[in-house]
Amino acid sequence: MNIFKEREAIGTLLDKTVQIAEKYFSTKQLPPGRYINDLELKDLPVKGIGTIETLNLFYKNYAHQIADSNGPRYFGFVTGGTTPAALAGDWLVSTYDQNAFGSNDSIAPQLERQTIHFLKQLFELDNSYFGTFVTGATVSNFTNLAIARQWIGEQSQIDISNEGVFNLNFKVLSGTAHSSIFKSLSMLGIGRNSLQKIDTLENREAIDVDLLEMALKQINTPCIVIANAGTVNTVDFDDLVAIGELKKKYNFWLHVDAAFGGFAALSEKHAHYVKGINNADSITIDGHKWLNVPYDSAMQFSKHKKLQLKVFQNSAAYLGDPDVSPDYFHYTPENSRRFRALPAWFTLMAYGREGYAEIIERNCAMAKLLGDWIETSDKFTLLSPVRMNVVCFTLKRKEISFDDIKGYLARIREDGRVFFTPTLYKGVPAIRAAISNWQTQEKDIQITIEALKEID
Ligand SMILES: *Cc1c(COP(=O)(O)O)cnc(C)c1O
Repeated sequence: MNIFKEREAIGTLLDKTVQIAEKYFSTKQLPPGRYINDLELKDLPVKGIGTIETLNLFYKNYAHQIADSNGPRYFGFVTGGTTPAALAGDWLVSTYDQNAFGSNDSIAPQLERQTIHFLKQLFELDNSYFGTFVTGATVSNFTNLAIARQWIGEQSQIDISNEGVFNLNFKVLSGTAHSSIFKSLSMLGIGRNSLQKIDTLENREAIDVDLLEMALKQINTPCIVIANAGTVNTVDFDDLVAIGELKKKYNFWLHVDAAFGGFAALSEKHAHYVKGINNADSITIDGHKWLNVPYDSAMQFSKHKKLQLKVFQNSAAYLGDPDVSPDYFHYTPENSRRFRALPAWFTLMAYGREGYAEIIERNCAMAKLLGDWIETSDKFTLLSPVRMNVVCFTLKRKEISFDDIKGYLARIREDGRVFFTPTLYKGVPAIRAAISNWQTQEKDIQITIEALKEID
């Protein structure tokens, strides 16, 4: 297949792609969860078949086996979807294929700066935060904790970026840290065991601030506190105001993992959960969750741009003001980077603050609806009040094992109307429904309730 002929026919090729995309959006036939067998691996073609034939082949063999995790009844993990505007933006990302590393040789880094500005306003973050796009909340946590680690070193005149972590010994304190925090600590050479778990309040996943203070007093050397703003099981929030107060008395870096909880700022009813977030030295917020932009996308914010530069700079000779000319490759783990900001820019322009507030309120209302039904059902037990968009529940049985839950969820997945993921909540095997897709409406909750009633 002649690649230059394909360039001439690009319109036809993209029309065909649009047809496939339209079919996906207009016919809601794909189940949200499913079981797929291992593919039998084929040999690399020597002669290519061209893009049209490849599109046909993909459509015939694979398109029907996609899971509709981008649809209104996929409640696994915390999974957003893609808004129409974000999809349009994302297609253009690949069309232009910019390397958004910086240096102002294209509008791409400037639009990233603009989008970060929008997002700071959306989440009501102080102007003093510097922000970048990375691939996900895990990498955002990793990036922010790398800056925190640099800060720890500086407290005893050690430049970790040059000397490494070998001369350091410090603690990381958290109540209900997300699994990606442990992964980040491993990647950073801080080590998973450095995390000292502080007990949470009774029947809560929020940290007991008094116990945190006792630990800080006892440690009495610079450390890292990871506050959680939106836990994955029950969307619980640490008291960011009280933890902020502790910063006046103790020397620690405050990182806030607000992967999806950060969106509480958009809702009048829930904004109090993130009060005090500006006390954070660094913040993680995901894009591909509640912002409903396609994978992969997240933001990291930090108030310590100079330290961030020390960690990530790609050459010793760095000049210039990154606020004016954001050379992102000196501030993020990547050097070459996708123009990841564009879908976020598109969707924020298209729907604005109000559009996003509506999505957040609707998702929370749908979670409440499901939670209210669970509470009255004689088949399920609600394990925690529905604070925002996650419903955490379990089967009402005497003895319930994790395998029972997995077995039940397998039958639900087989049925194909709805998809949940299993969890352990305070030792209890449980089911979680996280509602974070802009498309989820009342009729989807009704279908979900019917499925839960029917499937045993
Ligand atoms: C989802 C999530 C993460 C990890 O996010 P990825 O985007 O999957 O890397 C981290 N922290 C919290 C609280 C999350 O909900």
